[in-house]
Amino acid sequence: MTRLRMAVIGVGHLGQHHARILSGLPEVELVGVVDSNPEQARIIATKLNTPPYEHFEPLLGQVDAVSVVTPTIHHHAVASAFLRAGVPVLVEKPICRTVAEADELIALAASANVALQVGHIERFNPAFEELAKRPIRPKFVEAERHGPFTGRSVDIGAVLDLMIHDLDLLLALVGGPVTRVAAVGASVFGGHEDMVNARLEFANGCVAHVTASRITRHPKRRLRVWAPEGYAGIDFVTRKLTLVQQSEEVRQFGLRVDEMDAETKARLKDEVFGRYLQVLNLDSDRKFDQLTAELKHFIHCVRTGEKPRVSGTDGRDALELAERVLLALREHPWEGNGNGPHGPKSVPQPVGWLFAPVKIARDEAA
Ligand code: NAD
Repeated sequence: MTRLRMAVIGVGHLGQHHARILSGLPEVELVGVVDSNPEQARIIATKLNTPPYEHFEPLLGQVDAVSVVTPTIHHHAVASAFLRAGVPVLVEKPICRTVAEADELIALAASANVALQVGHIERFNPAFEELAKRPIRPKFVEAERHGPFTGRSVDIGAVLDLMIHDLDLLLALVGGPVTRVAAVGASVFGGHEDMVNARLEFANGCVAHVTASRITRHPKRRLRVWAPEGYAGIDFVTRKLTLVQQSEEVRQFGLRVDEMDAETKARLKDEVFGRYLQVLNLDSDRKFDQLTAELKHFIHCVRTGEKPRVSGTDGRDALELAERVLLALREHPWEGNGNGPHGPKSVPQPVGWLFAPVKIARDEAA
């Protein structure tokens, strides 16, 4: 089989890993890495023994597929140039800055009849894959995605940076449309929103609470689902899936506490999980690498013409929902009325210090 000639556009924090993994796949020839920062392009190119480029144009006629891992504001310009040239594209999430831009990419991919995949990597998390295979109709979901501030992705806020992962997972698991969106969030450092909570109501009756923060000390990424079929909890960091369901007896008769003798009642607390609610913990292979799985899936789709698991339309739908969250966020009245401040950038002035501020000298802080 001839090797697929591929390039990575944008080899910063994440793109260098796309390039590293692709350079190690026997079915791929990494024909170059591109970065608008020539020094960064040179460092990664030297490591991977491939040519560096400062601009992507020279690669347009030389590649069979590309991975676009630039900051989001550049996704549309870069991806559209390759799609216009008939080159399949894997573009990182969020697909673009706006739904209009995403629609254009989808139309370009359709008219060139080439794959457009979006890098919603959690869809390749084995714990999510395992849950998605099972019969479950979520009715209440809690999604949390917290991480420390990294200084990256400041061209977007916590909704497009983090929450969009969970919005995509929710659309995949629950199914749209979403009928109502309410949200509250704040910009703590003065740029885009750094923390957000949204409440989503789906046409099928499901309600989801989704929280994202990029200013939390201890990272946490988890999804908890309640459904008539039972409970499912995913820890995306450890890739652990916990499933809980009623026992056959409870499904049939409920838990008849009134009919229990004193001894059975006394044991209840210890026996709830096991006898009445059955628990299954599923661990994933620790060595499994999601980014490798995502890239291999893209290569498979390019070769076979199969539709990517996360298509351009999926990326667009997640982005559209994210835009609705951003709109709801901007409309949130901090004082509970129309006259007061609204939205993440107009957080009311603090009424005081929570504790005496610690003085840190400039050079000490650095
Ligand atoms: P980064 O800033 O570390 O890297 C981006 C790189 O692109 C930089 O080296 C920059 O010089 C380069 N660049 C900028 N404009 C360019 C252009 N027009 N052409 C070529 N190179 C250009 O950012 P990052 O953290 O690697 O994020 C990149 C993308 O990946 C973003 O869209 C981000 O949302 C996404 N991302 C996804 C995940 C995930 O979980 N799927 C995680 C992190 C980042």
